[in-house]
Order: sequence, then C-alpha cells, then structure tokens
Amino acid sequence: MTDAQVIVGLEVHCQLDTQSKLFCGCSTDYRSDGPNTHVCPVCLGLPGSMPVLNKKAIEYAMRVAKALNCSVTDEAEFSRKNYFYPDLDKAYQITQYDKPLAKGGYVEIEADEGSGGKCVQITRIHVEEDPGRLVHMGNAERGRYSLVDYNRAGIPLIEIVSEPDMRSPKEARKFLNKLRATLEYLGVFDSEKEGSLRVDANISIAGSERVEVKNISSYKGVEKALTFEVTRQKNLLRRGRTVKRETRHFLEARGITQSARSKEQEHDYRYFPEPDLRPVNVQSWVAGIVLPELPDARRERFMAQYGCSANHARTLTGELRLANFYEHVVASGQKGLFTLAATWIADTLIGELNYRNMTIDTVQAAPFKKLLEHIQGDECTDKSGVEVLRVMLDTIKQGLPYETPLAILDRLNLRKVSVNITRPFAYGITLKSGVEPNPIMKALSEVLTEQPRAVEDFRKGKKEAFNFLIGHVMKKTRGRADPKELNRLLVEALKNREA
Ligand SMILES: [Zn+2]
Repeated sequence: MTDAQVIVGLEVHCQLDTQSKLFCGCSTDYRSDGPNTHVCPVCLGLPGSMPVLNKKAIEYAMRVAKALNCSVTDEAEFSRKNYFYPDLDKAYQITQYDKPLAKGGYVEIEADEGSGGKCVQITRIHVEEDPGRLVHMGNAERGRYSLVDYNRAGIPLIEIVSEPDMRSPKEARKFLNKLRATLEYLGVFDSEKEGSLRVDANISIAGSERVEVKNISSYKGVEKALTFEVTRQKNLLRRGRTVKRETRHFLEARGITQSARSKEQEHDYRYFPEPDLRPVNVQSWVAGIVLPELPDARRERFMAQYGCSANHARTLTGELRLANFYEHVVASGQKGLFTLAATWIADTLIGELNYRNMTIDTVQAAPFKKLLEHIQGDECTDKSGVEVLRVMLDTIKQGLPYETPLAILDRLNLRKVSVNITRPFAYGITLKSGVEPNPIMKALSEVLTEQPRAVEDFRKGKKEAFNFLIGHVMKKTRGRADPKELNRLLVEALKNREA
C-alpha cells in the first residue's frame, strides 16, 4: 500500500562490468583471487603514477545515461574528493562533482496502486572509482584489527542519484529492480557479482527531517532497511518526538538501522578539479551509441510474439537471464509451448530456484523443454511434472550425474497411467492372481472397499465425500492419475456399486 507520507530517494552505486579498472590496466576479475593481487602503482596511489581514463567505462556510463533518458553533458570533468580512511590509498577519490556525465532522466516503474506506470526522476549520473575494501577481524566496532584489500580500488562505478519520488519501500524495490534489469540489458553490469551494487537511501516522513541510511549492499536489504526506518520514524513521531537529521548504518543480519558515530558524518571533502585528467568532450560520442532492446520493449514483444499475459511478460523480462532462458526454451517450439513455458517458468521454476537459492544460469533450457513436452504430450500430470523438476534441480545443486526427465519419470514411477477399459469398475472385482493390475483401478477398487462410510455418505448426498475418495486414490497412486479421468471413473464406479 502506498503511504503518501513516506518520501524516499536513492543513490545507487553500480560497478561497471569492464575488463580493466577505471584509470589503469589492472583486471577487474578479482573476486576469486587473493587480496592485493590486482594492483599497480596507479590504483595503489603511489607518488608519480598517472591515471589514464578507460574509454570503455565512459561509453558504458553513457549507455546508461541514454537508456535512462538523461541529457549527457558536453564536457565531463573529474574531481578529487579528499578524505582520509584506510580504504582509500591515495587519500582522495577521483569522482565527478560539478560536471557529472549526465543529468535529468527518469525511470518508469509500475505504480503501487496498480494503475499504470509512474516516473522516478533521475537527478544525475556520475562516474567514479571504487575504493578498496576493509576486512574487519571480528566486527567493525570491537574487532582487534582490520585488513585492507585494494583489488577493488579503481573499479569503475557509476552513481545514479534519484529524486525523492518514491512513496514506499516497495516502490524503491521496484525502482531498483527496473534499474538492475535495464543495466543488465545494456550489458554494462552483472548483478550476480558480489558487491556489484550498493545503495544509500534518503528517507523521511513528510514534514520531518530526513535520514540517510548508508551502504545497503543487497536488493532485499533496501526494502528491509526502508521498512525498518519507516516504522522507526513513525513511532518517534507518534510518541511526540522528532526525527533527527542523521546518517545511519543498516545492519543487514539484524534487519535494523543504527545511528552512525558523528565523526563519520562531518565531512569536508574539499573537491577540486583533478589535475591529472583533462575534461572529456563526451557529447560527440553520444550519437554513436546504439541501445539494445530494453526491458519494456522486450515485455511488449513477449506479449505480441508469444501471447504472454501482462504479468508473465513482466516477470520473464524483469531479468535478462530469465528472458533469455524463456526464449531458449520456446525457440523452434510449437505455439502451444509458448504459454506452457511462460506459466511453468514464471509460476513454478522461479519459486523452486529461490527455494534452493539457485540462479537461472544453472538450469539448461533443453532438458527443461523436454519436461514441458512430456507434460504437453500427456505423459505425466502437472503434479508429477513439479516432482520431476524438483529432482532435476536437486541433481544440479548436488552435482549429481545428469538424468533425462523421462528417466526420472520412470525411476520414480510417475508416468501417467491411462485406463482404457470399457468397464473399468469391473476390473478390481475380476482381479486374478499373477496379473499385474492397472494401478489406478486397483487403487480405486481398494479405496471403495476401505472407505465404506464415505461411499455411504456420498450416496446420502454429501458432495465432500467424493473429493475425500478422490484424495485417497490420488494418495495411493502418488498423483499419477489424471484427475479428469479419475473423476469420471469414480462417478462410474459409484453408480455401478449402487446398481
Ligand atoms: Zn591498477
């Protein structure tokens, strides 16, 4: 629900997915390597070293600016932001201050009330270098010492600053999701990389001071931190107290925000133009930048080309990898597969993946498509299909040898059993020893014998008794019976018993 009194603005830091750092040739692929192995005199800030601007990073940032409908500046200038902290080896960060790369764009999101879209204005986008990373031994407050790793120092970042246009934590999440999808579609950002996104949030209740919540490092964290802050600020006001203007930290593990020590709030950054880098005339590049298909366009296309419902199209295109997966599955498939695949991916697969903490990257399109074809070909019920899917995902997660969906169906004895006998109810009665009976008919016959009271109740007109009996047959056949067919058989069997 939208709360008109809540006002949220975000500052989003995203690492640009370039091969090398912003001002040197060091590789950005540092995550699986030891600390301080991706460093050089430039990103270590050694005296006499000179920064050289990475053209790719500026191009990536301009793609973002264009996709977010910003106007790009004529000349982008870099500035030094001076502060003293161990994560910053040079004691200044090269960033942009009064001449950012781009200003004044917007991101369209779905409004809370479900009544179409709403625009979140973008104030500015600027490029800067990431500082190093501190690793605290123990916790930050009471640890014995901290280690510093400069592998991250100099990784290109963009900071995207929004206007305070969001009216609830949920809207903030939608804004971030849309932003993430857009950046991924642009091929400039990889949300799966640890620490690739960090958010500072400004939040206030109308008429009160605003609070800045620093360094939220996950998508889920943003909504959690904001929800906590809304409650905290509202409680203060309800008790007749005032909200203090301050900076707070989000403690993700505890789901709370905590007042930051005041010495961290008082900054005098003394910005001045970076003397080692000349202003860049970027305006001339902008025209040459061609944008790929973006999330909104792809959503429209999914509805037009595959007949996806609006909701399915939104879910499927909300993440680049998911959208690609869907198109792999339906590629060269029949039309009937389009809706089936959309339903299975959006309504089942995503949930099963989340439950296992797996990403869509780990799933291959071909076997998933095979499973859908078995369902389509009436070889298994939807219920059995889910069971097979779960086995498939568990197999991947545990690194077990690959098994085809059909092999799993057979191993678990989940293939749909069809009953094509003219007088099926008679089957149970004429059961001969040594003959393998049809399992559904066998179950049906057993249930009718075992549940005389339910049969009696049904005869007396109790409709629930019918479902009760169906439930028992399903249990015995472990969901392999086609529900429609079973209904028909049970009606027939009950009629026959009466006769
Ligand atoms: Zn370097």
